[in-house]
Amino acid sequence: MKTDILGVGIDDLVLPEAVEAGAALLREPGFHYVVTPNPEFILSAKKDEAFRAVLNQADLSLPDGVGVVYAAKILGRPLKGRAPGVDFAQGLMERMAQTGDKLFLLGAKPGVAEQAAENLRRAHPGLVICGTHDGYFKEDEPVIEAIRTAGADVVFVCLGAPKQELWMAQNGAKTGARLAVGLGGCLDVFAGNVQRAPEAWQKAGMEWLYRLIKEPSRIGRMAKLPLILVDALGARLGGK
Ligand code: UDP
Repeated sequence: MKTDILGVGIDDLVLPEAVEAGAALLREPGFHYVVTPNPEFILSAKKDEAFRAVLNQADLSLPDGVGVVYAAKILGRPLKGRAPGVDFAQGLMERMAQTGDKLFLLGAKPGVAEQAAENLRRAHPGLVICGTHDGYFKEDEPVIEAIRTAGADVVFVCLGAPKQELWMAQNGAKTGARLAVGLGGCLDVFAGNVQRAPEAWQKAGMEWLYRLIKEPSRIGRMAKLPLILVDALGARLGGK
């Protein structure tokens, strides 16, 4: 049962449970996809029905940001904690290094996915990265074909939201992969182009502030984020 956070269903899982659930999906037949909603997703899903539907059809929906956890608390439906997409991806890759499942990296500017692949192979000995493609393509078909030909089991789709979620829902099954995960800017992190906040900041729920200090141009996007808490309070007081 998913927890409804302002119209978006979220699985109440902490990281090890999320990784376990992801690995279980990979063992099932058929195609599945994972979404990692943060407050920005929830705010745009409010106005964008197609995005909301695609989020709610996901097999696994992880609370990526501390804002989602706060909103849940205000709504009176507390979640156990965050399960950030980037950590979920790391956990899944650890498993894949053992099982031999093949990973394809899709997204980011040209060259970034290749650099990420090199770093990830080093970080997870045994991990098979069977192909990469940048995220600035015009036609879907050649990309689908590249993933299919590579024989990928898992695809990390890093095109930013809502593009990556719509792409997974529309094209994921055609790639022949069994699992796709929408992971936003993760390839930039794996490539070493963007630094994550130190662990103390993450634990304090301040990763967003660290990111803002490092990338001040995000201020416009981030200024909207407290709105999710205002919305949650409105919904709670309105008895929704
Ligand atoms: N991106 C892409 N194709 C596009 C638009 C964006 O591959 O058409 C990439 C972009 O280069 C970046 C990622 O998608 O690597 C999105 O990053 P963003 O910071 O928006 O995501 P977040 O981490 O906030 O979810």
